[in-house]
Amino acid sequence: MRVVLWDTRRRDVAKDFAGGFGVGQYLGRGGLAGWVVRWAFKRDRRPVALAFAYLAAIFRRLGHQVEYSEDQVPPGADVYVFHPSLITLDLERQAIEAALAQSPRPKVLVTGILAHALPEAFAGLNVTLVRGEVEQLLWKFDDVLSAAGEPTESDGPVTVNVGSVRDLDALPFPDWSLFEPRQFRIAYDFWRFPTAYIQQSRGCTFSCNYCPYIVVEKSTRFRQPELVAAEMRHGMATHGFRSFKFRDPLFGLDRSRVFQLAEAIGRLPRPVQFSIEGRIDLLRPDVLSELRRVGLTSVTVGIETPDEGTLRYYKRAPIKDDRQREFVALCRSLGIRTVAGFMIGFPDDTLRSIDAVLKYARLVSPTFANFNVVTPYPGTEFFEEVREQIASFDFTRYNVYTPVMKYRYLSADDVARAHARCFIGYYFRSHWLADHARLVWPWLNRWPFGGPQPAGDAQIIRERRPPAKAA
Ligand code: SF4
Repeated sequence: MRVVLWDTRRRDVAKDFAGGFGVGQYLGRGGLAGWVVRWAFKRDRRPVALAFAYLAAIFRRLGHQVEYSEDQVPPGADVYVFHPSLITLDLERQAIEAALAQSPRPKVLVTGILAHALPEAFAGLNVTLVRGEVEQLLWKFDDVLSAAGEPTESDGPVTVNVGSVRDLDALPFPDWSLFEPRQFRIAYDFWRFPTAYIQQSRGCTFSCNYCPYIVVEKSTRFRQPELVAAEMRHGMATHGFRSFKFRDPLFGLDRSRVFQLAEAIGRLPRPVQFSIEGRIDLLRPDVLSELRRVGLTSVTVGIETPDEGTLRYYKRAPIKDDRQREFVALCRSLGIRTVAGFMIGFPDDTLRSIDAVLKYARLVSPTFANFNVVTPYPGTEFFEEVREQIASFDFTRYNVYTPVMKYRYLSADDVARAHARCFIGYYFRSHWLADHARLVWPWLNRWPFGGPQPAGDAQIIRERRPPAKAA
C-alpha cells in the first residue's frame, strides 16, 4: 500500500509543541528590536513532529511504501495521513479536500490531538478520525482501515478509538530518513547539530487546568533507559545526530530512571548534547549535575507568573520564588541554559500585572524567557471555563503569540504591545548579556575575560575521558 504523510511548515508551525496542538513563532512586533528577537527564534529548523517519524517506522515495518510531503498532495496514494495543528487547520482541510477529490477516492486518516479534542473541525469530510495514540496503528492499522469502510460520497468523518500504547518499549525507533534530518537544528538548546526529538516518557500527573498535555491522559508511562540510549546511538550512527531534545512533558518524575538513563548516555560512543523539560521542584541539584556530566545543555521549565493566586486558580502547584531563582542560578553555574515559559494575557491582567511578569523574569534571569500569550486549548478544563471570554475562535491565531481572549481591563492591542515590551525588555539590556553571553555563545569560553566561566563543552568531554593508566 502507498501511504503519504502530509505536513506543512507554513506559519512557522512547530507541531510537536503544546501537546500536539502546535505553536507558531514570535511575530516580532516592536520595530527593529522585535525583528531581531524574531530572527533569533526563526534561525532554527525544528525536526518534524515525532509522530511522523514513528509513523514512517511503523508503516515500513508493516511492509507499506511510505512518503512524506510538505504542502503538496501527491496523487495516487492509497492512504493519506494528516496530523494537523490548530494554526494550520484550514490548510490541512484544503489538502484533505484535494486528496479526497481524487478518483478512485483514497482513504484519509486524521491523527493526533485534534482528532481527539476537536472532531467538529472535520465535519463534512469523508475522513477517518483516529482517536488515541497514533502509534497504535502498528497494531490497529487494518482495523482502522476496515472501520473506515469503502470511501463513498457520504458526508462526515468516521471515528475509530485506538487507545494508548501500553508498552512504549514495543515501538520501533522513529525513522527520520524521510525528513532530511541533517537540517534539523534547535539553537536555543544546543550548539551541535543535527538535532532529533526523543522521548523517555509520556504523560504528566499534575493537573494545571490549561495544559494541553493532559487532555488525553493524566498518568505517566516510561521507556527503559537502555532502549532510549540505544535509540540515541542508532540516530548518531544513521543520521549523525549530535543533539537530542527530550519531548517528555515532565522529565525527571522517576529519579532512579533518570540516573539509569544518565549512566546509559555516558556509555554512548561519542559525547552528545541533550535538553529536557520539567518542573523545577523535580530537578534537584544531584540530578542536574549528573545529567550535565553526560551532556545536558538546556532545561525548559514553566514559571508562568509570579502571582501565586493566579497559579492556584488555574490549578498549577506553585514553586517558591527563592527555589526558582536558585534553580536558574545553579543551572547557570553548571553551564546549563534555562528556557523559562511565562504567561501573560489572563482575562484579568492589567498593564501592571504584565509588567510584574517581566520584572520577575528579569529577577530570575533564565537564559531564554519565552513570553506566551494565554491560549485556551480545546479539550482543556480552562477552555470550558473561559469559553465566554474567548474573543476569537479562529484557531489559525492560536500560535501562543496572539491575544485571542476578551480582557476585562485591556484591549487585545494593549496585550499585544505589552507582549512585545516583555520580549524586548527582557533581551535588550546589558544584564542579559553579562549573565548569559558565555552560555549562548560557548566559543566565548576560550577567552578568560569577564566573569565566571560556566562548565563548557570542552570540560564535560575531558571529564568523560577514562583516567590515564598508571605507568
Ligand atoms: S506540570 Fe507541565 S505538563 Fe504537567 S500538567 Fe502542568 S503544565 Fe502540563
